[in-house]
Amino acid sequence: MIQTAEGSLEIAEFLSGRLSGKAPYLKEETMMSNGTVCQSCGMPLANPGDFGKEADGSPNGDYCRHCYPNGAFNSPNETMEQMIESCIPFCRDRYESDAAARADMREHFPLLKRWARTT
Ligand SMILES: [Zn+2]
Repeated sequence: MIQTAEGSLEIAEFLSGRLSGKAPYLKEETMMSNGTVCQSCGMPLANPGDFGKEADGSPNGDYCRHCYPNGAFNSPNETMEQMIESCIPFCRDRYESDAAARADMREHFPLLKRWARTT
């Protein structure tokens, strides 16, 4: 795992808080069920450095660093359809076509917290 020097301390604090149960936003069932994913774009949050950050620099347990880099969504007015289109170029290696990627994301994105209200 590659970590930047500036992020390593807060990552250590993040991990220790999680292990000692001091991070209530990281629900245990979320961590245990088939991996944590960004609740905006579906990106797997495999490493502490993948998580987004609050404005004060503390990690956000729901969203990735691309969607939620600094206490707010990167594109607050983005719709689910726009998010799907912007994700397709990054996951072409997982699908046989753009249409297959779009269909899969349209099925799964409404399950994510950010888009749950828009269905
Ligand atoms: Zn994301």
